[in-house]
Amino acid sequence: MTPLAQQLIARIGRTGPITLGDYMAECLLHPDYGYYATRDPLGVKGDFITAPEISQMFGELIGLSLAQSWLDQGAPTKIALAELGPGRGTLMADILRATKSVPGFHAALTVHFVEASPVLRKAQARAVPNAVWHDDVTTLPDLPLWLVANEFFDALPIRQFVREGTGWRERMVGVSDDTLTFGLSAAAPLAMLEHRLADTKDGDLIEHCPALPGVMQHISHKIADHGGTALIIDYGDWQSLGDTLQALSSHEKADPLAEPGTADLTAHVDFAEIASNAAPAKFSRLTPQGVFLERLGITQRAQKLATRLQGTALETHVKAHRRLTHPAEMGDLFKVISIYPVSATPPPGLEP
Ligand code: SAH
Repeated sequence: MTPLAQQLIARIGRTGPITLGDYMAECLLHPDYGYYATRDPLGVKGDFITAPEISQMFGELIGLSLAQSWLDQGAPTKIALAELGPGRGTLMADILRATKSVPGFHAALTVHFVEASPVLRKAQARAVPNAVWHDDVTTLPDLPLWLVANEFFDALPIRQFVREGTGWRERMVGVSDDTLTFGLSAAAPLAMLEHRLADTKDGDLIEHCPALPGVMQHISHKIADHGGTALIIDYGDWQSLGDTLQALSSHEKADPLAEPGTADLTAHVDFAEIASNAAPAKFSRLTPQGVFLERLGITQRAQKLATRLQGTALETHVKAHRRLTHPAEMGDLFKVISIYPVSATPPPGLEP
């Protein structure tokens, strides 16, 4: 049993079952035993691999899209270039390298990272030495904001609810025979889920991310007030339906309750929730990652890089291109949406 499992079992014994959201928050962010607090989970040797770690092309194209959007909004001379959950800092390093030659862009920007993990903050400082770190979005400066978040929202804790009549039973984590188990609370109507009565039926399970509205509203207001753009990339779809909680350990699926604190826990992102918190800014059409990257010219970029490569390096490069864009790999599962001011157009690669 992990130390965190012991703590949780004792807590549940004292005060009763906890929501899945509380369970996920403890597993991911507990200061001593939390998954992100204690390790660098990324890369081939870690538990999962993300788009920026697969190929430099991902960050390069995102950098050029953000810089073009900055030019389209009149190239303001003092901006925040922010990233939520920057992992090892690879995406931002690639963005900065690709935008070096955009006149005035680097002189205008300061990099801001929102990061909870002390371990990953160290890695980020090695990749991008001059960044400013934040615990959450509320301390981002009052400046035009160009922001990127790749696989950040999927790491935020979710709660799950099963519909019964016009009420909902919440999926709770309890204890039976000294092990953590799932159970369901009694059914009750919930004002925050009222809008889901229209598109669900008895027995359907839906997910709700309690932190998402606050994070999104903060970003949307900044962008509406000062200008800028947010590019949000993650796996998921429009309106969550069904259980998407997933535990991953050493690239293998695991039981989310088995060893709390040692596996990555994620859930699909409900992009409709992101869109519904975009006001007073606007949101672009939800677009598959493969389509987004193709529109930005990933194939031309891949061909150009390929001319310098041979042997296994070339093979890895060709595989990386396919992995990022092919519908059977990340191309369809991952989606992109942007938030932008009412007076502006979406960044290149996305449509209104
Ligand atoms: N964007 C990176 C890493 C994705 S992993 C990439 O694409 O490679 C998720 C990232 O979000 C990690 O950096 C993790 O430490 C961070 N994170 C998770 N939950 C967080 C929270 N509640 N607040 C701030 N950062 C968080």
